[in-house]
Amino acid sequence: MIKFFTFIILAYVTYKLFTRSNKNSEVEAKSSDPSNNPVELVKDPTCGTFVERTTNFKVKYYDNIYYFCSEDCRQKFIEKIKSEG
Ligand SMILES: [Zn+2]
Repeated sequence: MIKFFTFIILAYVTYKLFTRSNKNSEVEAKSSDPSNNPVELVKDPTCGTFVERTTNFKVKYYDNIYYFCSEDCRQKFIEKIKSEG
């Protein structure tokens, strides 16, 4: 009879450990989700708005990359650097 109880307790502890480790791995997966990370903001040099670095409106000029809120701002910047030579 004691053996039977020992088996029940062991089974219960094993079950608890198993479910707990499952929960932990779930939390880890959530915390490592890249969508939770804040996106780095950069300043649009044309209008001064802060835009996400992932934007498609960008210009590489010499060694710098400039980011813009819109195609309009991007074009204005290109015209400006062209007119400045
Ligand atoms: Zn802009």
